[in-house]
Amino acid sequence: MKDYYEILGLQKGASRDEVKKAFRKMAAKYHPDKKTGDEEKYKEVTEAYAVLGDEKKKAEYDTYGHAFNNAGGGGGGFNWQDFQGAQGGFGGQGFEFDLNDIFENFGFGGGNRQQAQRGRDVSIDINLNFQESIFGVTRKLLITKNNTCIQCDGTGAKKGTSMDNCSTCSGNGKIRETRQSIMGSFTTVRECNTCHGKGKVPKERCGHCAGAGVARSEEEISIKVPAGINNGEVIRMTGRGEATPSGQPGDLYIKVHVEPHKTIRREGSTLSTKLPIKLTDALLGALYTVETLDGNTEIRIPAGITHGELIRIKEKGVPTDRGRGDFMVKVSIETPKKLSRAAQKLVEQLKEEGI
Ligand SMILES: [Zn+2]
Ligand SMILES: [Zn+2]
Repeated sequence: MKDYYEILGLQKGASRDEVKKAFRKMAAKYHPDKKTGDEEKYKEVTEAYAVLGDEKKKAEYDTYGHAFNNAGGGGGGFNWQDFQGAQGGFGGQGFEFDLNDIFENFGFGGGNRQQAQRGRDVSIDINLNFQESIFGVTRKLLITKNNTCIQCDGTGAKKGTSMDNCSTCSGNGKIRETRQSIMGSFTTVRECNTCHGKGKVPKERCGHCAGAGVARSEEEISIKVPAGINNGEVIRMTGRGEATPSGQPGDLYIKVHVEPHKTIRREGSTLSTKLPIKLTDALLGALYTVETLDGNTEIRIPAGITHGELIRIKEKGVPTDRGRGDFMVKVSIETPKKLSRAAQKLVEQLKEEGI
C-alpha cells in the first residue's frame, strides 16, 4: 500500500505547507519533459499531492490512512485519468491545488489536448445497517452494465479469427478531414468510427457483441466498505463503471445509506446510548447491563450519580487507525410518577433526614 507522505519524502502528518514545498521540488525534478524526468515517479508524486495538498482529503487520509486508499479499490482516492483529462481546462474542475504555475513552466497548458474517450460513470446506492457501517463490510452486488465482452475479451473478433487493418482509416485509427471555406482550408483529425481508433477490425465479428468489444452483462462487484463510514458518504471504484469500445472505462460510485440504530447514536468516533436507572440505584449505586455493538457489557453505577452524567466505556466506539473510540452511557434517572403509601412514608422520612 502506498504511503503518500513517504512518496513525498515527509514525516506522517506533515503540514500542507511542507507538502506543497516537497511536491514542487519533486514535480520539477521528475516531470517527464525534464532530463531527470521519471513518468512513473511523477505520477506517484502528483497522486500523493492530489490527496495531501487538499485539506479535506488530507484530513480523511490522516484519519483513515490505508483504509482511505483501500476503500473498494480506490474509493475516495485519486484517478490519474481524471487528472489528465482535467489538465486542459484547469480551474473549476474540482482541483483546488494550484498546479497551474508548474504546468505553465513546462509548457503544459491546454490547447492541444485530445478528448479522451471514457465510459460512463455508474452510480448505485447501498444500504448498510448500523453495525456494518461501524465495523466495515464486504458487499457483493450484481450490476448490469456495459462490460468488456467476455466472449472476445474486447477485441470484437470471433474466437480464433484474426484482425485486419481498418480500411476506413488505413490502420491509423484516425481520420483526417480537410474542409474548404471562405477563410481557407481547415483540417480536423478525429477518431475513426469504424475501428474506434484501434486501427484494426476483426476479420469475423464476435457474435456476442457484434464486433463492438463491449456488451451488456451482469457483473458481480465486490465492494469493500471501510470501517467507520458515515451515512451519505460515497465510495469510488476507479474503472469499474461502464466499458467503452475505445478508451478507459468509467468509474463506479457507491453511495452509502446507513440505517440508524434503535438505541445507539454516533458522533465522530464516539458511540453513545441512554441508560434509564431507578432513583434508588442512583442513590445507592448498582450494576447495569448496557448493549454495545460488541455485545452486552456490565457497568457500575456509582452511588450518588446525577441525572445526565456520562459513564465512559473505553474502546467500544468506532474503529479508527488510532484505535477505537469510546462508548458513552448517559444516565437518566427515572423519577417514579406515583408512590405507594408505604413509599411515601419512607420518602417523608428521607426528607426529615434532609435528603
Ligand atoms: Zn479505422
Ligand atoms: Zn465480443
